[in-house]
Amino acid sequence: MSYDALQKMINESHKIVFFGGAGVSTESGIPDFRSTDGLYRQNYDYPPETILSRTFFDRNPKEFYRFYRSKMLVLDKQPNPAHLKLAQWEKEGRLIGVVTQNIDGLHQAAGSKRVFELHGSIHRNYCMRCRKFYTPEFIRDTDDPIPHCTCGGTIKPDVVLYEEGLDQEVLSGAVHVLSKADMLIVAGTSLTVYPAAGLVRYFNGKHLVLINRDPTPMDASCDLVIHDSVGKVLGSLA
Ligand code: ZN
Repeated sequence: MSYDALQKMINESHKIVFFGGAGVSTESGIPDFRSTDGLYRQNYDYPPETILSRTFFDRNPKEFYRFYRSKMLVLDKQPNPAHLKLAQWEKEGRLIGVVTQNIDGLHQAAGSKRVFELHGSIHRNYCMRCRKFYTPEFIRDTDDPIPHCTCGGTIKPDVVLYEEGLDQEVLSGAVHVLSKADMLIVAGTSLTVYPAAGLVRYFNGKHLVLINRDPTPMDASCDLVIHDSVGKVLGSLA
C-alpha cells in the first residue's frame, strides 16, 4: 500500500533529492561506527567520538589511523539496490541530487554524479603540508602507521572529524538542491543529528518521504513514512 503511494509520488516528481544517513550504507555491509560492538571495547581505549576528533588526530595520529584503517576505510563493499536506483533516476533526469552523511563513496560507485558528501570521503586524502592528494589504497597499503607524503607532511583523510566544520561549498550545494526539489526522500537517518534536521527545512516541495527502519521524531511531519530497509523499498520500485 505505502509502496504504491511512494511509486505514485515518484512518477509525478522530476526534481527528486535523496538525503541519506548511515542506514543506507549498513545495507551494503558497512557498520555504523557509532553502534559500538563488544569487540570494539577490547581493541580501543577511547570511544569512537574521541578517536574521530580533530584534537585526537593531531595528538595521536597513530592510534587514529589504527581505528580509521580497521573501521572507516572500507574499500571492498558494493552499492546496494538503493544506491543503484538513485543513480538510475539521475540518469533518467528525475533526480537532481544526493545529499549524504556517508563517506564511503558508494553513490559514485553506483554511478551518481551529483553527490553532496556532507562529511567528506575516504576516497580523498591530502597532505596537510603541500596538499598533494593520495588514494585510499595508498592509505591502506603503506607500511607507515601514519601515512606520510613524499614531502614529509602528514596525510589526512578528507573526512569531517568531530570539532571540524562542514565544507561550506558542499553545504551550500546541498542547500541549493534541497530548495529546488519537488520531492525529498530522507532515508537511513534519525534526523536528530546535525546537520540533517536543519537542512531538511530548506525543502519546500510537494512530497516529503521518510524511509527508516525505526520511528524518528520527524515521522509526524512527513507525507509518507515507511519503516523498512531503504534498499528493499527503493529496489522494489519501477
Ligand atoms: Zn606533501
